[in-house]
Amino acid sequence: MDPITELLAGMLEEVRPHDAGETASYIPQLRDADPAPLAFAVAGPRGRVRTVGDDEVAFTIQSISKPFVLALALEQRGRDGVLEKVGVEPSGEPFNAISLEPGTGRPANPLLNAGAIATTALIEGADVDTRTGKIVDALSAFAGRSLWIDEKVYASESETGHRNRALAHLLRSHDVIAGAVDVAVETYFRQCSVLVTVRDLAVMGATLAFGGMNPVTGRRVVSEPVARDVLAIMASCGMYDYSGEWLLRVGLPAKSGVSGGLLAVAPSQFGVAAFSPRLDAHGNSVRASALVEAVADRFGMHLLELHESLGEPAVSVETVEDGRLVRLGGELGFTGSERVVAVLRELAAGLAEGTVVTVDASELGRANPGALVALRTEFQTMPDSFVLREESG
Ligand code: GLN
Repeated sequence: MDPITELLAGMLEEVRPHDAGETASYIPQLRDADPAPLAFAVAGPRGRVRTVGDDEVAFTIQSISKPFVLALALEQRGRDGVLEKVGVEPSGEPFNAISLEPGTGRPANPLLNAGAIATTALIEGADVDTRTGKIVDALSAFAGRSLWIDEKVYASESETGHRNRALAHLLRSHDVIAGAVDVAVETYFRQCSVLVTVRDLAVMGATLAFGGMNPVTGRRVVSEPVARDVLAIMASCGMYDYSGEWLLRVGLPAKSGVSGGLLAVAPSQFGVAAFSPRLDAHGNSVRASALVEAVADRFGMHLLELHESLGEPAVSVETVEDGRLVRLGGELGFTGSERVVAVLRELAAGLAEGTVVTVDASELGRANPGALVALRTEFQTMPDSFVLREESG
C-alpha cells in the first residue's frame, strides 16, 4: 500500500466506530439499506484514484447529481440563462423546503430540490427519455465510465415523490419551469437514481477540481468558467442548512446525497468522495462528513487557509553565455508579479550596463492578465538589454 492510501485507510478506521444517524426513510431501498458500508476515494491530477473500504458498493447518486446537471445547464444556457430561473443564495433551509423567491417564484439555489428540479427542466428534450439520456451521458463523462439507473429506486422515487411533484407544480405556476411538470419531475427522479461508487464520485469531483477536464479520461467535460461557477455554488449551498458551518470547518465546496454519498473538491488538487448511509439531521452522511473533514484538515485544504505557493512563484535566475536568463514558472498572479518586478529591478541595478537579461515567461503554467500587464509595463522602463519572451521557442 502506498503511504497516501495507508493514510486514507487509517482515517477510515478512525471514523468506523461512529454509528450516529439514521438511513433515509422515505423509500424502502434507502430505509432498508445496510448501514455498515464505509468507503473513501481520492482522485488526483494525473488521474490516479486511490480508494479504501467498501469501494465496490454502488449506491444511488441522489442529490450529488444536482451540481453536475447544473454544469450541463450552464454549459447549454450560459450563466444568465440559468440565473433567470434559479437563484444562487444559500437558503439556510432543509433540502426539500419550499424556498421560492417572493414574486418571481425562483428557487433559492440549484442544490435544493426546488432549484434542482428547475435546473433539470432547463435540459431540453422532447420527452423524459431524451432528457435523461443527456443527463446520464453528462454524468458518465464526469465519472469517466458509462453509468446507469437503478430502476427500482426510480420507481420508488416516482411513487413517493409527492412533495417534489408539488414543488414542481409551484414552479410551473410561476413559469419557472415551462412545459409538462411530469417531464421535469420524472427526469429529476431518474437523475437521482443513477448508480455510482465512491470512485465515480471522486473522479466527478476531480473533473470539477481541474477546471472541467476529466483527469482520468483526459476529456474536457465542461468549460473552466462552468466548473468554477458550480464549485462556487457548492461552496455556499452544497450542504443544505449546514453549508455555512461546513465552509467554516472544512472549507471545501461539497455536495451530499440522501443515500449517504458525499463529494468534496479541492480546486487544482483533488476530488474526494466518501460513502456511509447513516445521515445526520441535515441529511448529510455522518461518517462521510467526518472523513472529508479529516482529509481536509490533515492536508491543509481549507480554501481560505494560507497557500504559500501562490505567494512564492517559481523564479530562477541563471547565468548564461550572453548574460542572465530569468525563468518564470507556475502561476503568475498578484504576488508573483510583485516578486518578479523586484528581481528585475535588482538585476538592473547590479549588472554591468548592456548585460542581456532574458525573462522567459513562456513556461508559465498560468499567467493572469493583470500580472502580465504589470510585467509588460515594467519592461517599458527597463534598459533595452532586457528582453521579455512570452512565446516558447
Ligand atoms: N431523491 C431525493 C429527493 O428528491 C434527493 C434528495 C437528497 O439527496 N437530499 O428527495
